[in-house]
Amino acid sequence: MAQKGYYATAMIDIPRGCATKVKAVGLISGGLDSILAAKVVKDLGVEVHGVYFTMPWGCCDKTTALEAANQIGISFIVLQLDERYLEIIRKPKHGYGSVLNPCVDCRIHMFSRAGQYMRHIGAEFVFTGEVLGQRPMSQMRHSMKSIEKGADLQGRLLRPLSAHLLEPTIPEAEGLVDRARLLGLNGRSRKEQIDLAAGLRITAYNQPAGGCLLTDENFAARMNDTLEHGYRNFRETIALKWGRHFRLSHEFKVILGRDEKENEALIRHAHPDDYVMQISDNRGPTLILKGYNPVPEILATAAGLIQKFSRLKDQAPVEMNYWRCRDKNDVRRVVARVIDESEIERMRL
Ligand code: SF4
Repeated sequence: MAQKGYYATAMIDIPRGCATKVKAVGLISGGLDSILAAKVVKDLGVEVHGVYFTMPWGCCDKTTALEAANQIGISFIVLQLDERYLEIIRKPKHGYGSVLNPCVDCRIHMFSRAGQYMRHIGAEFVFTGEVLGQRPMSQMRHSMKSIEKGADLQGRLLRPLSAHLLEPTIPEAEGLVDRARLLGLNGRSRKEQIDLAAGLRITAYNQPAGGCLLTDENFAARMNDTLEHGYRNFRETIALKWGRHFRLSHEFKVILGRDEKENEALIRHAHPDDYVMQISDNRGPTLILKGYNPVPEILATAAGLIQKFSRLKDQAPVEMNYWRCRDKNDVRRVVARVIDESEIERMRL
């Protein structure tokens, strides 16, 4: 039988008279709720395997998630959301939230991958830091139920922070985790979580955010453009969060760095078939041109955009260097064409 009590280790009996520690997979975003949930489950004696999903366009809070995982002493792996996730954004079965955020489908996808990992490592259940009623789209009772079903985790998806308000899961019913020591939080306020974290000496966590970049109108417009005109792999969405973006035609778009840091990042994340364009002395914005075999007019327009956003904007058209990323040594030249403000606004994403 499973042992109970706050400091007992959850054990399951297995044949041959040996006992093994109960394993669970926890989704760790680095936010307070997920860390708190992991701490609650770990303190039940469960061996917690944290999973962190990194967005196709990269993320900045992985470090805090890792720090938090270390602080509470759980293992931690990073899983990449890729082209499968981009196709969910394109056509979510359960629709969008306030902008381009497909929260229900997003969770189904992440939870079902966590479920695959659970089966792979022989864990008993998946848990999350979700709190009933905290988010309007994905954390209402009916959507939490349909996410559990969609992720093929019926009875195996534990929400430790709101467990007392939800039906008991299989690990609770089987005594693998002590339901009495789970919580009954609900609603949008995070005061209780903050107090609990302080009591448990949890200090490393990300501050609550309103949602991911898909809830940002500008980012969403760029993402929609990418989905509509095509992409080669998920890495092409990394640069959507930087620079100025312009659509020149169905086949071609450009991204202009706004400072040195963005210029370097754009080159670092460019596709081998993208073109890089710069003012000859490299003092000005770097431009990435996406699309195959650009004709002279496209190249001249790209060069015109560089000039427009550089210190040379009021000068006569200048010559730019450009090369394909995979052929760095084959540097060519193109003269900018003059572009007026209204054309810029028509192209701007
Ligand atoms: S806000 Fe973004 S990351 Fe969070 S559930 Fe919604 S789509 Fe997914």
